[in-house]
Amino acid sequence: MGGHIEVDGIGRDYRDGQAKLTVLDGVDLEIHPNEIVAITGPSGSGKSTLLALLAGLDRPSRGRVTIDGVTITELDEDALSRFRGRHIGFIFQSFQLIDTLTAVENVRVPAELLGDFERAGEAAALLERVGLGHRLTHFPSQLSGGEMQRVAIARASIVQPSVLLADEPTGNLDSRAGERVLELLFERRDTATVVVVTHDASIAERADREIRLADGRIADVIERRAS
Ligand code: ADP
Ligand code: MG
Repeated sequence: MGGHIEVDGIGRDYRDGQAKLTVLDGVDLEIHPNEIVAITGPSGSGKSTLLALLAGLDRPSRGRVTIDGVTITELDEDALSRFRGRHIGFIFQSFQLIDTLTAVENVRVPAELLGDFERAGEAAALLERVGLGHRLTHFPSQLSGGEMQRVAIARASIVQPSVLLADEPTGNLDSRAGERVLELLFERRDTATVVVVTHDASIAERADREIRLADGRIADVIERRAS
């Protein structure tokens, strides 16, 4: 079951010497279970900042993020990192695989961190499902960009998180590899709510809803499909 995400009045400021830089301000948002949402907007509009706040990888300066009734912005570091490990999968533009581990070892990591060795044992099957059954023992340096991102999707999925977040997941890929990655990511909606940051209009068009940011605020919401 996909996660229900509620964002209430979040803002994020950075200190720039004496000055205060407000990169997100007054963002309210509700994302429904198993919805696919694209977050778009110009470079610097706050997309990555918002995604990191949804993931609990960053803390807002004000406001709250609640996932499945748990207000993650109120959790202490330990509780937050436990929540993240179980409920949130994150996919980075730059893959962020561990260079010294093989593909299958990379995919196992999140399950091993939870001590869930049954799930860890499903790593090879997950890689097969993303078309990498023949790359199990390859290291990241032996994989193409598209293959690395498919490993990253398998890794983000292994604990069956209820929320999958991806920041420009196709940004480093050619269009064919990007297409495959997107397909695999969107397939995860069976079990997860999917939020993808992108500046690619063709990706945004395929989401259920596009949220456009400008200057740290929601400038536009485009409903593509009833959800
Ligand atoms: P986007 O992903 O839409 O391109 P970001 O969320 O990465 O935008 O950044 C929004 C704004 O916040 C940018 O102006 C960026 O320079 C600023 N910013 C991001 N991270 C930091 C930081 N750690 N310190 C200061 N400013 C930051
Ligand atoms: Mg960004």
